[in-house]
Amino acid sequence: MLPDACSQQRSCEALEAVRFPILTFDEWQPGRPPGCRFNPDWLMPGESLVSMLWKFACANALSGDVLMRLMCPDADPLEGVIPLRSAIDLNELRRLLRLPVNVLRTSLLGRTPGDRYHASFRYCRQCAAHGYHSVLHQLAEEHRCAVHRQRLRTRCPQCRRQSPFMINSSVIEAPFRCVWCRSHFCYGRLPVRSTTPAMRRQDRLAIQERMLLRLGSDAPGVSNG
Ligand SMILES: [Zn+2]
Ligand SMILES: [Zn+2]
Repeated sequence: MLPDACSQQRSCEALEAVRFPILTFDEWQPGRPPGCRFNPDWLMPGESLVSMLWKFACANALSGDVLMRLMCPDADPLEGVIPLRSAIDLNELRRLLRLPVNVLRTSLLGRTPGDRYHASFRYCRQCAAHGYHSVLHQLAEEHRCAVHRQRLRTRCPQCRRQSPFMINSSVIEAPFRCVWCRSHFCYGRLPVRSTTPAMRRQDRLAIQERMLLRLGSDAPGVSNG
């Protein structure tokens, strides 16, 4: 087995069992993937769009190229888009993921004056082990994870390079991994059943409180239990 195919398979094993064959883009009805779903139970408060898309792609066996074409038909799948509200059509996204618009809005960063965020993917290693990445992790004024109190990192534990905070076909095919060397961002172990809520109630509350503090009126969209 090719190393890439192998790592893709292992990543997906951590999510729900693959339920559909991998189809080429031409086999999809544009905008309406047959049977594709995002189970709202997989969602955690403040989850970033890239984190949601990793779950969605793995659970529905979508390649990065197909998912990019479904989500952003006008963008080059290799180049992709920055997950900003101004860059992504929320209606297209809602049709694809079938999640409430306020949840999707909260999963994206705004670009208003004073809204500073990291251009590199920034993560908590323990959250990555739960299959979770938060919009909070990208905010420049946040330095530690609201749940685990770990320092947020941008460099790969193996090759020390930074992965871009982008959504493109390469990023989608490297869930919770370095886009360059494909090493896991967690501690060398696979996220276990990442589509099952893995965080405790108090962890979810800690994220919600932090979201309210940082994002104010945008934070109600984080509420999902
Ligand atoms: Zn964490
Ligand atoms: Zn790396």
